[in-house]
Amino acid sequence: MNARTPLPPIPFIDLAAQRQRLKPAVDVAVAKVLDHCQFILGPEVRAFEAELAAFCGAKHVVTCATGTDALVLALRAFGIGPGDAVICPSFTFCATAEVAVLVGATPVFVDVDPVTFNIDANGIAGAVETAKAAGLVPKAVIPVDLFGLAADHGAVAAAAKAHGLMVLDDAAQGFGASSNNRRLGTFGHATATSFFPAKPLGCYGDGGAVMTDDDTLADLMRSIRVHGMGSDRYDNVRIGLASRLDTIQAAVLIEKLKIFPDEIEARNVVARRYAEGLSDLIKVPAVPAGSTSVWAQYTIRLKAGTRDAFAAALKADGIPTAIYYPIPLHLQQAYKQYPVGKGGVANSEKLAAEVISLPMHPYLDEPTQARVIDSVRRALKA
Ligand SMILES: *Cc1c(COP(=O)(O)O)cnc(C)c1O
Repeated sequence: MNARTPLPPIPFIDLAAQRQRLKPAVDVAVAKVLDHCQFILGPEVRAFEAELAAFCGAKHVVTCATGTDALVLALRAFGIGPGDAVICPSFTFCATAEVAVLVGATPVFVDVDPVTFNIDANGIAGAVETAKAAGLVPKAVIPVDLFGLAADHGAVAAAAKAHGLMVLDDAAQGFGASSNNRRLGTFGHATATSFFPAKPLGCYGDGGAVMTDDDTLADLMRSIRVHGMGSDRYDNVRIGLASRLDTIQAAVLIEKLKIFPDEIEARNVVARRYAEGLSDLIKVPAVPAGSTSVWAQYTIRLKAGTRDAFAAALKADGIPTAIYYPIPLHLQQAYKQYPVGKGGVANSEKLAAEVISLPMHPYLDEPTQARVIDSVRRALKA
């Protein structure tokens, strides 16, 4: 026998635990939709949009098919297209830059802050300069609330104002978190989120939503999500998409939103336990004063070159890890043709080589988490 008997592997994100908690309520809610048969934009969609607006304080919520579509809807409503530049961080999920290309614009990459992993607003001026030098018109910036932590929206707003940029907050990972003691959803001109199952507020399939306080933008996005409809869906006033949230998903989300504040608190308890158990050995994620995180990921930094051995050691203990993101966007095959802002993206490259994420979800109990912490400590000391 080994000195340590291997324990069964633990999940990276435990969707089954939440499913058990919500099973009775969700099953009843879904059965209701199956009975009324209004599967697209049914009553649950309108109810969920109203509840989400109340939750985050936004005037309008426009739900749609995915988080990526939510970003597209907003950029389309902003009127962004060919010849325009959209500034976004290089260290993020690809969809943040993909949507700029999907509307015909050009993404221009800026760096992130090495401590928060979020957009460094100081890089925006240089990206504007780079865009202009390339003959593009800088129109918008997309800050991302990466890994659940709200970006520095005060600094982003100031830079955007100075350069006449629209602001689209990509809150796919951070929805539910706060900046300046205010929940995400009302920063910038629009906020997009995703209900992909693994996101902090996920559904049982694909889904997304855009939040805005602007009546005109909200009307445009409601039109674009149904083929650019006018007075009715057979009046076509612009080119649009077919991007609605399924009524069944809205019914699921209504139940999930009820426990979301409790889950956010549980995620923060898990994050605090990680910090207590690990901060003497490694730099644990920082949360600046006035901001909060919903901990979509718990991401630590290792010395470059040690990550593979670290991940293998944890895996041997039944502890899964993940790397978000191994390649910054400006080095990806699909994106390397697009410009990098004048200030460069050194932090994005460094982080891509150093980050690794540990299991994180609201149902990570203390004994299981102690196993993770113990395994991480042994791997770090090896
Ligand atoms: C998940 C994600 C998206 C896209 O959401 P989908 O619903 O998968 O289309 C966009 N931006 C970021 C930062 C994300 O993490």
